[in-house]
Amino acid sequence: MARSALVLGGGMVGVSTAWHLQQRGYDVVLVERGEPGRETSYGNAGLIQREAVEPYAFPHDFQKLVQVAFKQGNDVNYRLSDLAAIAPRLVEYWWNSGPKRYETITRGFEALIRHCLTEHDRMIDAAGAGDLVRHGGWTQIFRTEKGFADGAARARHLAREFGVEGRILDSATLARAEPALYRKMTGGVYWPSPYSVKDPGALVQRYADLFVAGGGKIVHGDARTLAHLASGWTVRTADGSVSAEQAVIALGPWSSDLTRSMGYKFPLFVKRGYHRHFKWNGHLNAPMIDTDAGVALLPMAQGLRVTTGAEFALRDAPPSWKQIIRSEKLAREMLDIGEAVETTPWIGSRPCVADMLPIIGEAPAHTGLWFHFGHAHQGFTLGPATGRLCAEMMKGETPYIDPLPYRPTRFRFGRRAFPF
Ligand SMILES: Cc1cc2nc3c(=O)[nH]c(=O)nc-3n(C[C@H](O)[C@H](O)[C@H](O)COP(=O)(O)OP(=O)(O)OC[C@H]3O[C@@H](n4cnc5c(N)ncnc54)[C@H](O)[C@@H]3O)c2cc1C
Repeated sequence: MARSALVLGGGMVGVSTAWHLQQRGYDVVLVERGEPGRETSYGNAGLIQREAVEPYAFPHDFQKLVQVAFKQGNDVNYRLSDLAAIAPRLVEYWWNSGPKRYETITRGFEALIRHCLTEHDRMIDAAGAGDLVRHGGWTQIFRTEKGFADGAARARHLAREFGVEGRILDSATLARAEPALYRKMTGGVYWPSPYSVKDPGALVQRYADLFVAGGGKIVHGDARTLAHLASGWTVRTADGSVSAEQAVIALGPWSSDLTRSMGYKFPLFVKRGYHRHFKWNGHLNAPMIDTDAGVALLPMAQGLRVTTGAEFALRDAPPSWKQIIRSEKLAREMLDIGEAVETTPWIGSRPCVADMLPIIGEAPAHTGLWFHFGHAHQGFTLGPATGRLCAEMMKGETPYIDPLPYRPTRFRFGRRAFPF
């Protein structure tokens, strides 16, 4: 008999999990409150980041901390009134970013990133979504000498440690590679292996269409109605209740709404981000991220998408447009970006865990309930790779990646003890 599962959440992570379960013979119902790929998986930078083998660490460098504290840069912002609420998570994040722990965490992160292109390729081919995906990397650009020196050193480090190629471009080479860029930069690093997607939400929708074409169901419902039955799990949806033997929480930044109410106190927080499109009609040979300024310039179906760095705030706090306004100004120093497409910028939340690794595994106190969230800055990249891992574990297959670093029980001890 076919096994059955409910997948809660239709972002890149949930849709990829649903498809991988279906590939393993499961009857799958995906429960989504809106449409697939319309939240965080819509508004991101659209990069499938093969180079992102190291997760974003909390800065330990004093100069950087001062810059952030006094809001001198644009790459990181925070909402002062939310700091007390998120401080415990940030302290833990800072602690995990210490050199020794960070090295171990990076090994766990890299083990996932290593598979991001092959796992996306498999889904892109099956979904016939090649038209949305550009092979050919992206360029990290720098406006300060220090930024460029650090960026070049990091490129050499990633090549040496992980075999990731990053081509160091001096100022003149970068200017020749991207003639549309009219601000003189100090240099760049071109990462050739990542992919870029011209409409990230559309790619998730194609993956969702693939899942439906394979017999999967997508229903509208509120995942917070999840309840435990003797035989499995049930959720109330617009079409009545749906039930299955297993359920997966893949609600991205909303995962804590459900896990908290079930007694799991994971160290979750969000880093919010913004984007806005512009009616630019120029040409870039590759998407670009200005690391010093925290601005990404991304040619997309909707126009040139300008995105921001991270804002530390509560998920549902009112938006602060400061970063996106500054990003727009900084983008105009580099490209003739034209008029804005939307009147109001987009805001979304990266779902983060204090130890920078996603949480993937069965709930320790609830049989048949699975966790799959917390992909932070790289959930669009990692959805298919961790979707496969999660599906393999649910089915009881030998996982293709050692799942130990992502196990939910890593938070069992100390003050985050589970209620058992
Ligand atoms: C500005 C920015 C740039 C980024 N750039 C990149 C990038 O270039 N590359 C990369 O890999 N990552 C990037 N990210 C991170 C990436 O977007 C996220 O990690 C990823 O989208 C998370 O996917 P998800 O499926 O976990 O969450 P989501 O995409 O948010 O999906 C969660 C889903 O759950 C649904 N949901 C929520 N609550 C309920 C409920 N109660 N009932 C039913 N459904 C519910 C939502 O509607 C949503 O569809 C970026 C993020 C931001 C903000």
